[in-house]
Order: sequence, then structure tokens, then C-alpha cells
Amino acid sequence: MLFAHHPRHRLFDGPTPLEPLPRLSAALGGPEIWAKRDDAIPLAMGGNKVRKLEFILADALAASADTLVTCGAVQSNHARLTAAAARRAGMACDLALIERVARQDSDYLLSGNRLLLDLLDATVHRFPIEADANLDGAMEEVARRVRARGGVPYKVPEGGGSPVGGLGYAAAALELVQQCHAAGVAFDHAVVGSGSGGTHAGLVAGLHALGAHVAVTGICVRRNAAAQKVRVEDLASRISALLGHPPPPTGTVRTDDAALGPGYGVLTEAVREVIHLAARTEGLLLDPVYTGKAMAGLVAMVRRGELGRGQRVLFVHTGGAPALFAYRAGLARDGA
Ligand SMILES: *Cc1c(COP(=O)(O)O)cnc(C)c1O
Repeated sequence: MLFAHHPRHRLFDGPTPLEPLPRLSAALGGPEIWAKRDDAIPLAMGGNKVRKLEFILADALAASADTLVTCGAVQSNHARLTAAAARRAGMACDLALIERVARQDSDYLLSGNRLLLDLLDATVHRFPIEADANLDGAMEEVARRVRARGGVPYKVPEGGGSPVGGLGYAAAALELVQQCHAAGVAFDHAVVGSGSGGTHAGLVAGLHALGAHVAVTGICVRRNAAAQKVRVEDLASRISALLGHPPPPTGTVRTDDAALGPGYGVLTEAVREVIHLAARTEGLLLDPVYTGKAMAGLVAMVRRGELGRGQRVLFVHTGGAPALFAYRAGLARDGA
């Protein structure tokens, strides 16, 4: 089958739940919205990075590494889940955490994902810089420190956004197709947050390889739509190559940056509103950095008439709720 040649270190038993969101759908007055609940993956509060890490971890173990090294923002879900995956495999984890000068409040610097890194006993190396231009350098410096203490590091690219990591979402595409078949539901469209792009690209490559006709729109959380499209197209063709398939045809990768706002991790009013709306209508927790933006992007598509009544849309819930606590002041009802 599709993944026979790619070693996978299982971190959970699928499938994750597929749920309708009738009250949210009614509140928006547009398409029927369902959620694929990858936030409900049981490892360390879950999220999309677990699927990528199943393939990345297998690659690291094959390379006889004993330490996973990665980088990310202070509130990185990827850093949290890389640390958790390392622990599950009996490995150490060293992290290059990029502290942006703009974010100095204690909720952001100490709570949410950052607190969980301490529980997972990851070794944190702080890199206080303004731009994210130097991530590779920071990660290499951490790998050097691991080697200096006698460890064997394996560098996981930011967000697990390598072709090998993307296999996790090609595998998720297969899981989804089987789940839809068993439940007797079909989707016209899927919407997913697009950051490193591995989740988006893996889904596109997997669905294409399976011959499933679902339009996938990646909602940009980091770059504008044009730049993100180039990135995701490149990743999708590399993932397809790993699967032994031709790349998806041009035009398959769709990106939308209507919800991006001023940039990565910046909480906008549209995101704040949709986080409150999803919680109030469905008891569904979205996060300020990824899934809140992805849902705000979906709402924008409904408002522009690109998604409407009679359509069924899948929202891929990629996790991220631990970051809610880092954005307390921006999200609390009275803003206190
Ligand atoms: C990392 C992340 C994303 C984006 O996934 P990519 O594969 O990096 O594009 C979306 N949602 C959450 C919660 C994440 O942590």
C-alpha cells in the first residue's frame, strides 16, 4: 500500500473523531461544517505534529539518534510535541526557542506550551532574536552542544515541515477517506491551517494519490498566499515522490491569506471572535495562532460566497489549545 516503504513509529491509535458542527454551521448560515479532531490525539494534549513525528521519529531511530533537536517560537506546539514524542521513544529533546523581543509578557513567556516543556523536561536553549531568519543557525548550534556532551542529535525542521513529516498527513488522508467511506459522508472542500505547510501538502499529496476529489484550501498563518502556495507546491511534489506518485497537477494547491492579519501569532479581532463563537456554539476550543486563524479564514470564504449552502466542508482541527493560556489577556471576556 501507500506507506509500505516508510517506517512509522506509532504514537497513537487512529482514527481521530470526525464530528459535525451543526450549531456553528447554523450560526454562519453557510455550508455544513464538520471537524476532523486531530486536536484529540492523546499524546501530550495532541495536535497535527504527532502525525508528522510518527515518520520523523522512525527516521531518527533508523539513524541511531538519541536526541531530537528542533526549533520554534516560545509557544510552539511543535516543540511541545517533539519533546513528548522523544520521551515516548526514550530519547532526549533539546530545543532552540526563539524569543521575539516583541513578546515579553509573562503569560506568553511562562505559561501554555512553555510550561509543558518543563514537565516534559526538555532542555531549552534560548535565542532572543527579532526576525526568524536565523532558525537553521540556532538549530545547528544546539545540535553542536548535544554532540559536545556525547549525544547523537537528529534535527527536526521547524514545524516538522520536511517531506518525511508530510507523510503523516498523507497517511491522515488515507485515514480520512476510509472514515468517510465507513460513515457515508463526503466532503466538497477541506480547510486547514498552513504554516510550515507540511500538513497542507501531505493532505493534498495523499488525497491526490488516492484519487479523492476534495478541494483543500490552506489558510495562511505565516506568509502571504503567493509565497505559501510556492512552498506547499514544492513540499507536495516531494511528498508525492516519496509515495511513488506524480505530483498533484498545477492549481491543486490553494492558499488564502484573508485571515493572516499583521502576521504569525498576532491575535486579530476576527480570530478572537471566532474563538469565542466556536466555544459558545460547540464547546470547541480553537487557538489564537493556527486553528482560530484557519476558522476565521473559513468564515471569510463563507462571507465571500466561496462556500455556501448545500456544500459540506471539513475543518481540520490541528490542535493548539495549550497556547490559549499564553494569550489570556487578549482573550478574556473583559480583557482583564
Ligand atoms: C504547526 C501547526 C499548524 C500548521 O501546520 P503546518 O504543517 O506547519 O503547516 C496548524 N495548527 C497547529 C495547532 C499547529 O501547531
